Amino acid sequence: MIEIDGIFKYYGHHAVLKNCSTRVSKGEVVVVCGPSGSGKSTLIKCVNALEPIQKGSIRVDGIEVSDPSTDLPDLRSRIGMVFQNFELFPHLTIENNIMLAQRIVLHRSETEARKRAMDLLDRVGMTGHAHKYPGQLSGGQQQRVAIARALAMNPKAMLFDEPTSALDPEMISEVLDVMTGLAREGMTMMVVTHEMGFARKVATRVVFIDQGEIVEDLPTDEFFDNHTNPRTEAFLSKIL
Ligand code: ATP
Ligand code: MG
Repeated sequence: MIEIDGIFKYYGHHAVLKNCSTRVSKGEVVVVCGPSGSGKSTLIKCVNALEPIQKGSIRVDGIEVSDPSTDLPDLRSRIGMVFQNFELFPHLTIENNIMLAQRIVLHRSETEARKRAMDLLDRVGMTGHAHKYPGQLSGGQQQRVAIARALAMNPKAMLFDEPTSALDPEMISEVLDVMTGLAREGMTMMVVTHEMGFARKVATRVVFIDQGEIVEDLPTDEFFDNHTNPRTEAFLSKIL
């Protein structure tokens, strides 16, 4: 579903991703972890072309992301993205946040878009909040709405960049529970997170990135029990 092959990404002369390759197959959940500044967000952003790459190739659902002829809005509508800071539209109600792209990008009727919004609000446990504004919700609630908004586009894969790191501890599990449910239903997911409990329970593989290099890319059990690289060991010993 997501094929990353030998990519290099530079900011000026600074190589932020160096010869990174990995794959996320259909239905897989890949957790990406690594120290601050190692390139995790950049990697995720390259997948849906929020950042260009300078070398290598990324294919999503068979489509080459950096091909100039690729229809980027169309590509992005196939990949849901959830950020650390929710990024809901503050001036729109929850319902309208979830309806907007459905109407504009997918040209769904108002009735259809509203029905989808209501179904998804139910699914993320947010029924009854449709007419509120983002500022009236807790961080955990806003993040669940952000997930619902991404799902409204029927994405083929979901990218998460530290979706719980801006949340108070008591709200983390409500968001992780929604993500776990999605994974169980077979959603293809790439998740930047330091929640190693979630990784152990839900991930099929774990990728560890350090200084722009993919240092480890292993099935979850192997990652935790049999990683070989001392950099992985050093990282895990700090966060576990
Ligand atoms: P964190 O855990 O703190 O979120 P990260 O692993 O997500 O870190 P990135 O945000 O991908 O790291 O950043 C990787 C490197 O690229 C860092 O050295 C960062 O300073 C640099 N960088 C990120 N965005 C830009 C930018 N827009 N312009 C220049 N340099 C950038
Ligand atoms: Mg980041």
